Order: sequence, then C-alpha cells, then structure tokens
Amino acid sequence: MFRQLKKEPGRGMRIMDFNIALIPGDGIGPEIVREAKKVLDKVCEKYGHKFAYSEILLGGASIDVHGVPLTEEAIAAAKASDAVLMGSIGGDAKTSPWYKLEPSRRPEAGLLGIRKALNLFANLRPAYLYNELKAACPLREDIIGDGFDMIIVRELTGGLYFGERKTVEENGIRKAVDTLVYTEEEIRRIAVKAFDIAMKRSKKVCSVDKANVLDSSRLWRSVVEQVAKDYPEVTLEHMLVDNCAMQLVRDPKQFDVILTENMFGDILSDEASMVTGSIGMLSSASLNETSFGLYEPSHGSAPDIAGQNKANPIATILSAAMMLRYSLDLDQEADAVEAAVQKVLTEGYRTGDIMSDGCKLVGTAEMGDLIAAAI
Ligand code: NAD
Repeated sequence: MFRQLKKEPGRGMRIMDFNIALIPGDGIGPEIVREAKKVLDKVCEKYGHKFAYSEILLGGASIDVHGVPLTEEAIAAAKASDAVLMGSIGGDAKTSPWYKLEPSRRPEAGLLGIRKALNLFANLRPAYLYNELKAACPLREDIIGDGFDMIIVRELTGGLYFGERKTVEENGIRKAVDTLVYTEEEIRRIAVKAFDIAMKRSKKVCSVDKANVLDSSRLWRSVVEQVAKDYPEVTLEHMLVDNCAMQLVRDPKQFDVILTENMFGDILSDEASMVTGSIGMLSSASLNETSFGLYEPSHGSAPDIAGQNKANPIATILSAAMMLRYSLDLDQEADAVEAAVQKVLTEGYRTGDIMSDGCKLVGTAEMGDLIAAAI
C-alpha cells in the first residue's frame, strides 16, 4: 500500500516534535484510537520523536458535552495541530438520542463541518489486498489473481452533500430537493492531487462520472481533461459510475488511481473496501493544499461491538502510518508501522472480523500490543 508513493530514502534520521490532535469520537472510536496512540508512542520511543497530544470532542461525544456536534474550539484545536488522527463518530440511528436532534445537530454534521472548516477537499482511500487476507476477499480466485492495489481519490467538500437542500410541501405532497454543485476550481484542485499521486504510482488515472446525464459530470470531464494536459505521462481514462461499480468486482486489477466526485466516491470506496475483505483494515487520509491532514479509518463507529474489545484497530493504525508519511514527513517510521502490521498478520494474529481457520483470535488491545511490539 502506497509503496510507490514513498519518498526516496536516504535522509538521515531526524528527531522531530509534533502536535497531534486526537479525536476518539464515538462507539469503537476511543478503543481504536488508544491502540493507534500506543503504536505512535512506540514510534516515538524507537526513533526519538516527541508527539504532544491534545484531545478534541466531535460528533456524539461533543453533543453530550456541548449540545452540538462541533464547536469553534474544536476547529481551533485541530487547526493548531500538525495533523489530526480520528477514530469514528456516530451512533445507532435507531436507538441513539443523537438522532432525535434535527439533522444539522446530529453527529455526522460535525464530521462534515470539520472537513469543511479545515478545507479537507481530497480524500485518499487505498484498497489493497493483503496476501494473508485473500481468503476474506469475496471475489473468485481467478478475479483476484495476484491481488490489487488501488487508491480512490474522492472530492470531499463539494457536490451533493454540500449543495442547497430543502423539503417543502406543495398541494399536500412533500417534495425534497438536493443540489449537486461543482465549480471548475473545485474539480481542478482534486484532479491535480490525483494526477500527482498517479505520477508516483502506475501513471494511470480513471476519472469516474455520470457525464451521459449530469451537467456537473460534463464539467468534471472537461476540467479533468485540461489538467491531464499537464501530465503527458499519465494515461487518463473516463468511466461512467455505474460501469465502475461493476468493474470493481469484475476486474479490480485494472485500477490504479480512481478520481471521482463526493457521492460517487463515497459509494465506490465502500465497494472497493469490501473487495479487500474487511472494512477493519482500511485507512484513509483527508488533505488540504498544505501538509495538514485528518486521518481516520474508513469504517464507522460500529456501535454493535463498541466497548467489547472486538474492534479491529488496524485501519486506524494504518491511518496513523499515513499521517506519519503525508503530514509529518516521517517515511521510515510509516514504513515501520506498515511492516509491523504485515508481520503480525503473517504470524497469524487476527481480530474477529478477519478471522479464518488456523489463525489466532485476539482482541483490540492485544492487536495494538502486538503491532507496537513489532516496531
Ligand atoms: P460501521 O462501519 O460502523 O459498521 C458496519 C459493520 O462493520 C458493523 O457490523 C461493524 O461491527 C463492522 N465494523 C466496522 N468497523 C469495524 C472494525 N474496526 N472492526 C471490526 N468490525 C468493524 O457502519 P454503520 O453500522 O453503517 O455505522 C455506524 C455509525 O457510524 C453510524 O452512526 C454512521 O453514521 C457512523 N459512520 C461514521 C463514519 C466516520 O466517522 N467517518 C463513517 C461511516 C459511518
């Protein structure tokens, strides 16, 4: 994962101080962030760095204390840090009192709000199939082949989730309207990120849209084509989103960098994560134009297993590795964390979600201990 993205080695060892903001969040969030911090502490011990941590309340945890899912103080604390590592937010929509609040005061509004406030417009989600977890991949052996290694670059602060919305009643019939808006600047900056990433990988971008129907997609396609002119070495392909959904299970090996808008990326990245076998393994990064980023697992707060020491902390630990690489410029340390995850999997340790015959079942805390010890 991200092997091709790493910077050239050779730099001498540097001792660095960083301010890291932690957002434990809700559900399994506090458990998995605790394990990622354990691993970061081991990195500091081994490489001599000093990380100062601050804790930020977001989502349900913030509603319980402040009555709102995101406060100005939380935004200021995140901005004052070098990077943010988050667990996940949200509760069970059927039983949690948070979902009796109006939508703008629910946990998810906090997450959308902080992404917007920090201008995190680029969401990177790698989908990499570990050899050890091939059995968990729901695809046929002949489709899996030698495995796959793709990254979805999703626009995160525009499109349908941020457009104007309303529900009105006309002649006794309720009508709901959501608006999908993109400016060419928003499309250009995410396309540049995707092409930059492609230059360090297999130089292939697949831009996904619905240009046969949507105006926003037709603008998307034309701006992506303009950006592609600055990257003559990168092969650009366009794919309609419905076809892409099909191709991800028919032949996932064809993809390297998938570039797409907010809602399509939301759906396709979950699909890509399923074909890797477990949502508990998938990291993500949300970046702005600087080195600052918010790092979080791709999964949610899994309220069904919260507080039971059952959650897989690897997605959060791999998100911490991405943080080391992309925001803190500590490539060697990021490699060490990824190698430790690989070693523990090779030794046969598994949390329940990735368990298979002959492997050793461990809980959240034990998995964190094993990975920290392997660094
Ligand atoms: P989910 O990802 O929380 O859980 C889906 C299934 O996967 C559950 O069975 C869960 O037990 C399992 N699972 C998830 N992460 C796991 C892990 N690390 N280890 C083992 N098993 C794991 O999705 P959901 O149930 O649809 O959502 C639950 C809550 O999370 C909702 O409130 C939702 O809004 C929120 N959510 C938050 C984020 C985020 O914080 N970025 C993302 C998605 C969903």
